[in-house]
Amino acid sequence: MAVRLLIFGRQGAGKGTQSTRLSERYGAPHISTGDMLRAAVANATPIGLEAKSYMDAGQLVPDEVMLGVVEERLAEPDVVEHGFLLDGFPRTVVQAEALGRFATVDVAVDIVVPEEVVLERISSRRVCGSCGRIYSVQAPPERDWTCDTCGGEVVQRADDTPEAVAKRLAAYASETQPTIDWYADAGLLVKVDGLGTPDEVSERLTAAIDAHLAR
Ligand SMILES: [Zn+2]
Repeated sequence: MAVRLLIFGRQGAGKGTQSTRLSERYGAPHISTGDMLRAAVANATPIGLEAKSYMDAGQLVPDEVMLGVVEERLAEPDVVEHGFLLDGFPRTVVQAEALGRFATVDVAVDIVVPEEVVLERISSRRVCGSCGRIYSVQAPPERDWTCDTCGGEVVQRADDTPEAVAKRLAAYASETQPTIDWYADAGLLVKVDGLGTPDEVSERLTAAIDAHLAR
């Protein structure tokens, strides 16, 4: 059965980890906005080239171009056969309405983590500058902020400062939250508590999705 899923969650809610797990569980390709754009550009499709012209100019890819990229990706055979797990799109109500014109969504999941918990998680996060491995103040590398995997320097990311995080959370509240509410109004939303271990959260997620799909 091809399952068509959307995943929402604030940065720091564990969306990346859970997306990987859900994609495996349901056999649906995990499609993130960034990967999709990179692929469209690499494949030099007409819409990919258009997106590239904005990216090269350091501009945001406009909605209508992004929609073209999404529509193109969702028409590919792996999606037609296995469904999709769309991550990072739609971000706005306008995008959600447009997506509905060419794709059916079975379930939209929202991983709910209180803002103060997300802030705490992000501000304690540290990352290896060489290989990208993630650590935290609570779970540092074994030796003096030197990566256990590659020996690189483990630091705080420049965009993980409290000011930058607050800005991203505000954008989420003003744009993405209304989009989540839009899916709730459409009867497609499943909300899951994102607190606890990754295993606990993924058990909750699959139970809630299965229950929704069985309706
Ligand atoms: Zn490393």
